[in-house]
Amino acid sequence: MRILVTNDDGVQAPGLLALAQEMRKLGDVTVLAPDRNWSASGHVKTMERPLRVRETRLADGTSAYTSDGAPSDCVALAILGVLDETYDLVVSGINPNANIGHDVTYSGTVTAAMEAVISGVMGVAVSLNSPPEHGELDYGPAARAALRVAKNVIQQGLPEGVFLNVNVPHLRDDELKGFMITRQGLRVYRDALVRRKDPRDRPYYWIGGDSPTGIPEDGTDVGALAAGYVSLTPMQLDLTARETQKTLQTWSWD
Ligand code: MN
Repeated sequence: MRILVTNDDGVQAPGLLALAQEMRKLGDVTVLAPDRNWSASGHVKTMERPLRVRETRLADGTSAYTSDGAPSDCVALAILGVLDETYDLVVSGINPNANIGHDVTYSGTVTAAMEAVISGVMGVAVSLNSPPEHGELDYGPAARAALRVAKNVIQQGLPEGVFLNVNVPHLRDDELKGFMITRQGLRVYRDALVRRKDPRDRPYYWIGGDSPTGIPEDGTDVGALAAGYVSLTPMQLDLTARETQKTLQTWSWD
């Protein structure tokens, strides 16, 4: 079993190390991850500049590779053979914040798994639902949950084009209630425009505001996390609004 581990927080992020260490229990692990933080960068394919790949070391002394590309670039580079290896599974994370609801369209963690399934390789994205204010995060329980998920994925396989979006509450192992199969819920974004002036009196802008919340409906990723469960959402890249397809047929097209 050949596993590619990547993330969107940068190759030295503690969540990646925790994930890589657990994945080594399942097979040969290669790490190729961005050299900087690409959180909320969405699905990227870098086409207007060259990409570099260089060897580095993780905090545990193991060898890893890093690139100046986005998470999805790292996955594409690896699957296209930049390291002369092939992969059976791509696991991305562990992101320090949940990727639920509409977050998945922003998330570099999730888009890395999307890039895997585009290339025909199974993909799993793993994120930790850390509280808004926290000290040092414990990635252990999420890494062990990821191991359990990856084991099942390797044994059972996933349908073509489907990847798993895994979100883990920031709880101790003995506090986690178990695994819940969910659908995407609704995030509530609290973005606000921050308008300031630079030293030359020109305006600049930030998208600021409070952290997003969510509607903890039963059966959703938001609901599972709120109830203390590991949320497992099977996802696909087909975003077609099937009901609206039917509606559009009823419009006049002459
Ligand atoms: Mn991130």
